[in-house]
Amino acid sequence: YDCNTHLFHKLYLLTGSILPGICGKPRIADVGGVPYLIPTVQKEKVYDLNKVAKDIELPGAFILGAGAASSKILGVNAELIPIVQTKSEKKPAVNGSYIAQINPADKGCLLEKYSSKYTDCEFGLLANLYASEGQPGKVIEVKANGRTGELNFVSCLRQILEKRYGEKPVGMGGTFIIQKGKAKIHIMPPEFSACPLNTDEDVNNWLKFFEMKAPLICQPIIVSRDPGFDLRVEHTHCFSPHGEGGHYHQDTSPDSVQYLGYLLPAELLFRIDRPPETHLVGRD
Ligand SMILES: [Zn+2]
Repeated sequence: YDCNTHLFHKLYLLTGSILPGICGKPRIADVGGVPYLIPTVQKEKVYDLNKVAKDIELPGAFILGAGAASSKILGVNAELIPIVQTKSEKKPAVNGSYIAQINPADKGCLLEKYSSKYTDCEFGLLANLYASEGQPGKVIEVKANGRTGELNFVSCLRQILEKRYGEKPVGMGGTFIIQKGKAKIHIMPPEFSACPLNTDEDVNNWLKFFEMKAPLICQPIIVSRDPGFDLRVEHTHCFSPHGEGGHYHQDTSPDSVQYLGYLLPAELLFRIDRPPETHLVGRD
């Protein structure tokens, strides 16, 4: 599919796109990890998308994905929905990211477009990123109407890849839209947990869950299997034109849900600042 002429482009124009596609030197970066957040936060873990772009040998990269906002900058914990053209020799970074946090006024979702109050391209703790030159080109289109099983859209795609490619890890990134229906989305609370989060149940009691409505524009990172780098094999954040966004878990309207996605396999995968000690809590 030529993504330049299709929904990808229209969507990202609508929502403040900065580049016309997701093609050209596609690569995935898994930065930091859940062990820097759980059981207790390591606030000193701060990264920069410009530095990541350099580390993955693609300065000026167009980056999409899912991560944690910098609590140092925001003063609170929040979800980062990165949409960034990182800086190059020719031009400074262009930051079209969104940040989803708990609204102090009504405890609902507060989705904000990146603004200069955030230090340029900084994030915290963890991120799963898809980077490319942001060029138009051939992409994989995936359409799905209705859900018949338990797995979410991203897990289905990952399972299909794993079935087909077995031992060989295949990673993909890009964007999909939930065009109809509703979805279960979480936002991390503003405060890090004072007591250690030792189980998935602890984590789920700490997170704030919402049912959000379509259209939700999602940015998935998928790796069919972990070849032993302690990867997060699925991570998807979303935003919308109507002020909702966060971390995608599952649609809650299996009969009416409609998905449309544009994805591309990555040529390279980079593991950056892998946590020395790990666990499997909070990976959903
Ligand atoms: Zn997330």
